[in-house]
Amino acid sequence: MSSTRNIAIIGSGPAGLTAALYSARANLNPLVIEGIEAGGQLMLTTMVENYPGYRDGIMGPHLMAEMRAQSEKFGAAIIQGNVTSVDLCAKPFVIKTAEEEFHAKAVIIATGASARLLGLPSERTLMGHGVSTCATCDGYFFRGQDIGVVGGGDSAMEEAIFLTRFATKVTLVHRREALRASKIMQDKARANPKIVWALNSEVDEIKDSGRGEVTSMVLRHNKTGVLTEVPVSGVFVAIGHTPNTSLFRGQIEMDANGYIVTHDGAKTSVAGVFACGDVQDHIYRQAITAAGTGCMAAIDAEHFLENIPEHLATV
Ligand code: NAP
Repeated sequence: MSSTRNIAIIGSGPAGLTAALYSARANLNPLVIEGIEAGGQLMLTTMVENYPGYRDGIMGPHLMAEMRAQSEKFGAAIIQGNVTSVDLCAKPFVIKTAEEEFHAKAVIIATGASARLLGLPSERTLMGHGVSTCATCDGYFFRGQDIGVVGGGDSAMEEAIFLTRFATKVTLVHRREALRASKIMQDKARANPKIVWALNSEVDEIKDSGRGEVTSMVLRHNKTGVLTEVPVSGVFVAIGHTPNTSLFRGQIEMDANGYIVTHDGAKTSVAGVFACGDVQDHIYRQAITAAGTGCMAAIDAEHFLENIPEHLATV
């Protein structure tokens, strides 16, 4: 068993690594447990053009490598490993991986959210090469092109409408006749002349994995089974997100969709536990907002540690 840490950070996306940078520079020797998907969702992207400071853009994995090196330079300890359980009732808090047990006076949760995927092999292969889960991030790359958006909820409507700013035509693919989206979003999407509808349809395959770029999507009509190939150069999967919060269920306040509730900055319902990034944000979901809330979590944790009761400060 390791000695008690000041701060343990769970997760190593932009939120976790920014929290690590700030708490390392505050001399708090943070420990980062990076998780199975080290680096987070930016590891699945290619060019990032909306992270301030990189006017020519930066590759997602490169940006994460820079953030990691920057936090390590100031003393953050980053370990590989996936957290298997946490005890947020214990003081200090207890965090276990398959191999080790850690104790920490403060915990920063930065486990992110995972975009739901269709589960097609071609979707995985072409992720970041024409397949995307973020229109705000990648829409700009599809100026003057035809693209597909998958999903029938508010996210899919919002992404489709946003993408019409760039695309010539957006084919919206939804597996049922009825949309799940709110009426106002449906009405906006239906009124948009650049959106065409492929209802009762599912994506059977995204081509062309062999060429390493998206050239079309093959749609299967759910009622007739008929396959149709629609030429597109991008496919945006907008079928929802799942916050990575199962570890904390029952120990901390979450909203109805499983996102951690934060208040007064990055504070959670448990004193000494802070949350940042997509695990507590289902609205903005950007690297820069995740990094911003990571900074907030580190500063809030620092204040917590300054005021921690003496008997805990000395454990
Ligand atoms: P959502 O409401 O859960 O909708 C997900 C959509 O994806 C559904 O239409 C669902 O189809 C479809 N889907 C799920 N799994 C699929 C699969 N494997 N294959 C094909 N389709 C699949 O998620 P969301 O749109 O991300 O919205 C999440 C929450 O955020 C909602 O409460 C929403 O109102 C809110 N939101 C609001 C706004 C806004 O107001 N501006 C914008 C974005 C999100 P079925 O309908 O058949 O289940």
